[in-house]
Order: sequence, then C-alpha cells, then structure tokens
Amino acid sequence: MTHPEWNRIPMVDLKEELRLIRTPLLEIMTEVLDSGDYILGEKGNQFEKLAAQYVGASYGIGAASGTDALALSLKSLDIGPGDEVITTPFTFFATAEAIAQVGARPVFADIEENTYNIDPTHVEKAITRKTKAIIVVHLYGRSANMREIMRIAEDNDLFVIEDACQAIGAEYDGKRVGAIGDIGCFSFFPSKNLGAFGDAGLVTTNQEGIYEKIMHLRNHGSLEKYHHAAIGMNSRLDEIQAAFLLVKLYYLDIFLHKRKEAANRYTENLHPLLKTPPIAQNRKHTFHQYCIELDKRNELASALDHHGIDSAIYYPVPLHLQPAFDYLGLKKGDFPIAERTAERILGIPIHPMLSFQKQDYIIKTINDFLEDNG
Ligand SMILES: *Cc1c(COP(=O)(O)O)cnc(C)c1O
Repeated sequence: MTHPEWNRIPMVDLKEELRLIRTPLLEIMTEVLDSGDYILGEKGNQFEKLAAQYVGASYGIGAASGTDALALSLKSLDIGPGDEVITTPFTFFATAEAIAQVGARPVFADIEENTYNIDPTHVEKAITRKTKAIIVVHLYGRSANMREIMRIAEDNDLFVIEDACQAIGAEYDGKRVGAIGDIGCFSFFPSKNLGAFGDAGLVTTNQEGIYEKIMHLRNHGSLEKYHHAAIGMNSRLDEIQAAFLLVKLYYLDIFLHKRKEAANRYTENLHPLLKTPPIAQNRKHTFHQYCIELDKRNELASALDHHGIDSAIYYPVPLHLQPAFDYLGLKKGDFPIAERTAERILGIPIHPMLSFQKQDYIIKTINDFLEDNG
C-alpha cells in the first residue's frame, strides 16, 4: 500500500538535493580537474578556513573521514595504550572504534534519558587514574551538556574531544559545537548534514599546538616531503571533495533551517503519546535525525514500511554489547538507559527536501497507528 503520488519516502533524498546544486558542483569539479592539483591544494585550504570560521574555531584541518578525524585527535593528544577515554555507549560505532584504533581503552558512561547524550554524572563516576579524555557526542545534531562536561574536564585535568560528526552548526549557549572542547571532529559522509560525494572529515581546534600536530599526523607525520617526525596516517581531504564541500557549505544554513522547519512540524503535529525530541532554551538542535520513542517501536516501523515510509533505528545495539567490544568484559544491564533507548527509538525521514505533503502523510500514518495501537 503506497501513496499514489510517489513510490517510497526514503530517510534522506540526496538525488533531490543534487538537482538543486548540480550546476555549481559541475563547475567547481571542472576547476579541480583542470588544476592538476588533487591532494592538499587550494580548495582544501579554502574549505579548512571557511569551515573553521563557520564553526567558530581558530583552525581547521581536513581529514579523510570523521573516524580518522577522531583517531588523529586522540593521537595528537598522545593518547594510546594504557590510557582510558570515556564516551557514550549510544552512538555510531566509530566514536569508540577510534579510541580502540589508537590502542586506548573505551570506557562507557550511560546517557541522559531525555537528550540521549552522555550523562555528566556518569562521566564523573567513570574517571580513574588512567582517564585522559572524554569524547562527547552531539547525537542527532543536538549538543550535549557542555557546561558540565567542561567543568568535569577542568576539575580532573582531562581533554575534551567533541564528536560533532552529526552536529555541524549546532549550538550550546550561543557557541557552535566543535569549538567548545579542545578538539572538534566532523564527518562529511554523504548523508550527514554537510555531506560530500564520498568520505571526508575535518578536525577543528583553537590551540595552535594541536593544529600543528594534526597537520603533520594526517600526512605521514611529515610537513616537509620525505622528512617524518612521527608515525602518522594517510588521511587527507581530497581536493575534489573539498571543492564539493565549498559549494555545499554555502547552502548549509538554508538546509539546516529546512530541517528545523520539518522538525517543528513533526513536534507540533505528532500524537502526544509519543516522546518527541526535547528542546532546551540554550541549545540549537540541527536535526541530523528526528527520533521518536515508543513501546511499540517495531510494530510502528512495520506499519510505516507497509505505507511506503522508510524508518531507521539509530542505534539498535549499544556499543558495550557489540561483539567487537567483547574484550571489555561488559554485559547487558551495565548501561540500562542506553539499552532501553535502543529498544524504543525510531528515526523517521528528515531532510531539507522533504515536502510538507510528504511530512503530513508521515504524521498521519504515525498518528493513525497510535490511535489503533495506543
Ligand atoms: C558518521 C559518524 C562518525 C564517523 O564518520 P565517518 O566520516 O563515516 O568516518 C563518527 N561519529 C558519529 C557520531 C557519526 O555519526
């Protein structure tokens, strides 16, 4: 049973966005092809400057992905074997994967029931003598409680890395995320709020020392060709992706505004029995995802599917229960709020091109389900 005017409503519609910006993308792509410079050139420099400016950070360093941005950040702080890094179990795998990649131990702290972000109270309890840093994730595009996180970091002499991969443009107390902690990490995976046409990422920081370290770590530990000061990575932002991102950055605020409009329409019109994303006065939410919470999550997902509407679970398995982290010796029951949320959360379609008509159809389908199954 699908809608007569369209086939399915996907979670994101990158092709529809492409239709809008195809011409400037093709123009800038030709410019890069003709330049003969494909790695570490002018477009990359330009994007690093403009993106850092957008975030409100002093420095921006392009990387090959958001995951690499996280790993480079940890390496730049000399975090490795023997060290512990506290993070949330309710995030995309890459957050904790990066900690393990540099040889450190991920230590999880449960989330807040309302915001799905790491709970500062649990962070404080998880600190040991080995703790070096906190990686805070701004999940779904909504800032974590940065005032408390920064206070805890200061009191305990810890670094703060912001995993802002889902949250470019999000704000806390009027400050953009990625410029609040010591380091900010961004992903430009195609479906993110600022998406490239392939993998791409960025590190931001206000500290010159960290900037200089990451500048060489991303390039085989080298600033001067064939002279290597450290063991680094091959993790650069390709010129062609930087060029595409320059075009997309121009549209970012318009697209974020469209997401916000769609989110408001959902929140105003969805059935009051549903838990919808809470809004806090001092935060600007950028709605990378719009997630609702309910007991009959799986039944609603089937009903939506039946009506031609895609939905997705972010995330079905908390990280402490992932087989890859078996070696941490954690078990079900260790992080009850993350576990309960994983069973109840459901993301519904949200993107800048989502029409009011499609949104209203989604709202009606969900509300009808709740009337029948409340
Ligand atoms: C997407 C994402 C990443 C990883 O980014 P990639 O560019 O795909 O490597 C890390 N953390 C979070 C929270 C993400 O959403």
